Amino acid sequence: MIKLWDIVNEEVRMAKQKTFLTFYGGVNEIGGNKVLLEDKKVRIFLDFGQSFTMSAEYFTGWLEPRPINGLGDYFEFNLLPKIKGVYGKEQLAFTDVPYTKPKIDAVFLSHAHVDHMGHILFLDEKIPVHCGYGTKMFIESMEKTGSVNFGEHQYNSFRTGRKIKIGHLVVEPIHVDHSISASYGFIIHTSEGPVVYTGDLRAHGPRKEMTKEFAEKAQESEPIALISEGTRMVETEQKKSYSELEVEKLSNEIVSETKKIVFVTHYGRDTDRFRTFYNVAKNNNRKIVISPKTAHLLSKLVEDKRLHLPDPMKDENILVYYKRKKTGGFLETDYYVWERKFMEKMVNYKFVHEHQSELVMNLDFYQFAELIDIKPDPGSHFIYSMSEPYSEEDIEDEVMHNWLNHFKIKFHQLHASGHMNRSQLTGLINYIKPKQIFPIHVENPKLFKAISKTVQLVKYGKKYRV
Ligand SMILES: [Zn+2]
Repeated sequence: MIKLWDIVNEEVRMAKQKTFLTFYGGVNEIGGNKVLLEDKKVRIFLDFGQSFTMSAEYFTGWLEPRPINGLGDYFEFNLLPKIKGVYGKEQLAFTDVPYTKPKIDAVFLSHAHVDHMGHILFLDEKIPVHCGYGTKMFIESMEKTGSVNFGEHQYNSFRTGRKIKIGHLVVEPIHVDHSISASYGFIIHTSEGPVVYTGDLRAHGPRKEMTKEFAEKAQESEPIALISEGTRMVETEQKKSYSELEVEKLSNEIVSETKKIVFVTHYGRDTDRFRTFYNVAKNNNRKIVISPKTAHLLSKLVEDKRLHLPDPMKDENILVYYKRKKTGGFLETDYYVWERKFMEKMVNYKFVHEHQSELVMNLDFYQFAELIDIKPDPGSHFIYSMSEPYSEEDIEDEVMHNWLNHFKIKFHQLHASGHMNRSQLTGLINYIKPKQIFPIHVENPKLFKAISKTVQLVKYGKKYRV
C-alpha cells in the first residue's frame, strides 16, 4: 500500500532532482555565452561572456558603457540579466537590483575569449572562477598589458581530465582545439545524467586530437543534453577558411617569392597563428617582429611547456618592435614597466626600414601609423589573417585599404577559423548522440533541426528542464 508519506517523499525527491538550464547569452547570436545550470541546490554558470551584437545596438566606438555606473548602463538596455546573487556590491550600486549574498556556487570558463569570459568583472568576487591554467595566464597578461581589470576573483585552475566537485555536481573539463590555447569543453555530471557543453571548438587546427578526445569522452558519457556552439552553422559560408597548415603553406609561398617586407595581422592571442608566422619567417631565414604586448604574452605562456612556444627573450628569431613614445628617443623610461623587460630585443622603425627583406612583421590595423616611419618599399605585402574581411560597408575596412594603397602594399587574406564547419559539427553531434540538443553561439539555430528532432531552440532567460 502506498502511504501518503511516500507520495510526499517522492514529490520532494522529484522537486530536488530536477536539473535546469537557463541561457542568458549566446541566444541567436555568436558569443556572449552565459549558461546557468541548476541541479538540486547547486547553481553554476558555464561561461560569463560579453555579448558583441547586443551591446553594439547602443554602444559604438567611443560611446561606451561608463565604468563609474557599474551595471547601470548595462541594465538600461538589458545587456546583462537582472538576477540576484550574481553580481558584486559596487557594480550594483547605481541599479535597482539590491545586493544579496552569492547564489551561484561557481563559474566555469571554457576559454579566454572575451565573448566567453569578458563579463566576469561584474561577478561577486566571492564566487569562485574555474578556468584552465592557460586561461588564467591569458587573463593575467590582458590585465597587465591592457586597461582591463577582471576583478579579484578566487581562481581555481584546472587541466584536462580533472574532476571538480561543486557540491554533489562533478564537472569534468576536457581540452578542445580552438583559436586560443587552453580551450575546454565540459562534461557536467548532474543528478539526472551528464550534460555536455562544447565551448568553442574546431577539428582542423594543430590540436585537433584534443577535440577528438573530447568527442570520445562526451560520447562515452551518454549525455542527456548537449549544449553546442554553432558559429559556422550557416546555409552557405561567405568566408574562405583554410586549415592552419594551409595558412602556413600559402603564407610561405608569399614570403618565399618576395624580397620585400611582409606584414601580418592576426588575433594577438591566437598563439597557433603566431607559431604559423614564426615558422614561415624562420623557414625563409627571416626574423619575426612582434609587439611588446605579444612578447609579454609569450613570456608568460612559455611557463606552460605543453604549449611549445618560443621564449621571446631567448629565441633569436624574435625581435620586439618599439614605437616612438614620450621623448621619442627610445629611452627605457619612455615605456611602461612591463614593456621594458624586452628592450634588449628592441628594434625601431629605422631598423625595420633597413632590414625589410629579412623580416616578417606583425602589425595590427590600429598600429598602421608606424608605416609612415617605416617607409616600406612599394610592392611589400600584407597578410590579413583574421576572420572578418570586415563587411563591405565597414569604414575600417575602407581605411585599411586606403593605407595599403597609399603605401602600394599588396593585400592577402589567409585565415583558419576557430570553429567547426556545418558538416563537421553535424558529424560531431551524430557521433555524441545526446538525448537533447541546445544550440547556442549561433545566429540561425533552426539549422540544427536538420541534424536531430531533439533540438530545443532556446529563448533568452527561459528555464529548461533536462
Ligand atoms: Zn572562442
